Amino acid sequence: MPDTFKAILVSRDAEKKQSVDVVDLTEADLMEGDVTVAVEATTVNYKDGLAITGKAPVVRRWPLVPGIDFAGTVISSAHPDWRKGDHVILNGWGVGETHHGAYAGRARVKGDWLVPLPEGMSAHDAMAVGTAGYTAMLSVMALERHGIVPDRGPVVVTGAAGGVGSVAISILSSLGYHVIASTGRNAESPYLIDLGAAEVISREELSQPAKPLAKERWAGGVDSVGSHTLANVLSMTSYGGAIAACGLAGGMDLPSSVAPFILRGVSLLGIDSVMAPKQVRLEAWRRVSADLDLEKLSTLSRTIGFDGIIDAAHDIVEGRIRGRVVVDM
Ligand code: NDP
Repeated sequence: MPDTFKAILVSRDAEKKQSVDVVDLTEADLMEGDVTVAVEATTVNYKDGLAITGKAPVVRRWPLVPGIDFAGTVISSAHPDWRKGDHVILNGWGVGETHHGAYAGRARVKGDWLVPLPEGMSAHDAMAVGTAGYTAMLSVMALERHGIVPDRGPVVVTGAAGGVGSVAISILSSLGYHVIASTGRNAESPYLIDLGAAEVISREELSQPAKPLAKERWAGGVDSVGSHTLANVLSMTSYGGAIAACGLAGGMDLPSSVAPFILRGVSLLGIDSVMAPKQVRLEAWRRVSADLDLEKLSTLSRTIGFDGIIDAAHDIVEGRIRGRVVVDM
């Protein structure tokens, strides 16, 4: 009898009605790839919530094991870079969308998709960062490349109490930025200040239709919300500033004008974590391990078991999750 392991499987019937089940799989059920990994930790990202609830077309091949990121140990490898026993991280590359993902005891993927677990980090730490935290780091790196250093002025972080937002605040504050956190959950102000926010503002200040230009309030920012929020953030960015746009928790539209770009020289920096090249990933994970305080990481994350994944997926799309959720497999 081959070894079995538990997995979450998202399926569709002939009427395209989605169902989610916990099943037993064997390695023969996994998809093509040259490295098989024992999944030790994973996480519940906003995208995983969309995949499990079916709220947006994240899953594009059925049946599919969702879960866009994991950390674990290589069990077998035919890839020259990886050997049995290596500790690895995976984010993106269509895993959990078109390729069986993290919500299973084992995963088989292409070795080219993997990066090594940074020294000093456990699988649990890496998933407390997860795709959300690595995306926050990509956003900070984009701001730095644009010359948005702490001396240029404050930076705003929207969706502050979410995963991307919480990690962005921690990293930016450790780097010496004056961070303005925007949240719809005012009760989370003490948490945000604990992470390093210097000021907390209400989501309402940024959620109404934006004027082409408004009073200059920040030199840069990390936006995980999109829609009117991003439009307002841009209209309030000071001359020559830049905003890293990485999310759509408030909507995919951008009801803005060209005014911030052509009258204030503001830049909009697009952030994609899924197809980011390996060199960029390696640098982002190096920076995460250097710039993110592991103590803050434990403040902004909580741990659940495999059995809690489906409930957490519903909670994250309803905006009920604070910070990051780590799944101990
Ligand atoms: P979370 O759900 O953890 O955080 C999103 C936060 O956005 C919420 O906590 C809430 O923050 C705020 N929010 C939610 N709904 C609304 C709304 N209707 N209007 C305004 N604010 C809202 O998700 P993640 O942090 O994991 O991801 C954030 C976004 O970034 C998602 O859209 C995700 O798809 C995207 N993303 C993109 C990546 C990329 O490669 N570009 C990679 C990873 C994530 P608060 O309660 O503080 O207001």
